Amino acid sequence: MLLRVHRFLPTTKVEGPGIRACIQVQGCPIHCAGCAVPFTWPEDGGFTMGVDQLAEQILQGPAIEGVTFLGGEPFAQAQALARLGKILKQEGLSVMTFTGYLLENLQQSGNQDYLDLLAITDLLIDGPFQIEHLDTSRPWVGSSNQRYHFLTERYLHLKERMTDIPNRLEVRLTPDGRVMVNGLAEVGDLKDLFRGLL
Ligand code: SF4
Repeated sequence: MLLRVHRFLPTTKVEGPGIRACIQVQGCPIHCAGCAVPFTWPEDGGFTMGVDQLAEQILQGPAIEGVTFLGGEPFAQAQALARLGKILKQEGLSVMTFTGYLLENLQQSGNQDYLDLLAITDLLIDGPFQIEHLDTSRPWVGSSNQRYHFLTERYLHLKERMTDIPNRLEVRLTPDGRVMVNGLAEVGDLKDLFRGLL
């Protein structure tokens, strides 16, 4: 089974609780106005990886507490991510999943792949990015309509502490001189950052 990936980060500290691997999938049918990652929309972009191969790479990689699935739209590849998450959870890792859909709609869809992905997700963040409700004051999300769903007890202890967790950015310099950014910030903060780097 293959997964279409835009970017794989073996470790990150800004895409969920603790140190996590992050799989940014390629392909999103939702097309939110103001989306910061429109290059992840095309379903034929990115690259493909075998799910079992990716699971092995994660399990043999740096120590992490879990994985984060973001996009693109993870539920557009629910079957592959459910399989990947199931393998990783069997090894004790946690799963955090972002979606532009609403939890209620996923639960009522009758789509078994959606339900399987929900079943292995500990923390779900749902709802499309809404530029008119831009709000980066809460961790990992960009607009005030987006919701945290603690689907298992794994991260329940964070529920009352969310406002204590800051949104953060990671900036990486690649060996060939490119700058890669992940995490969440407002455009003004990014401009300030790159003004400082140039
Ligand atoms: S769901 Fe996410 S990736 Fe898709 S358009 Fe909205 S913000 Fe962009």
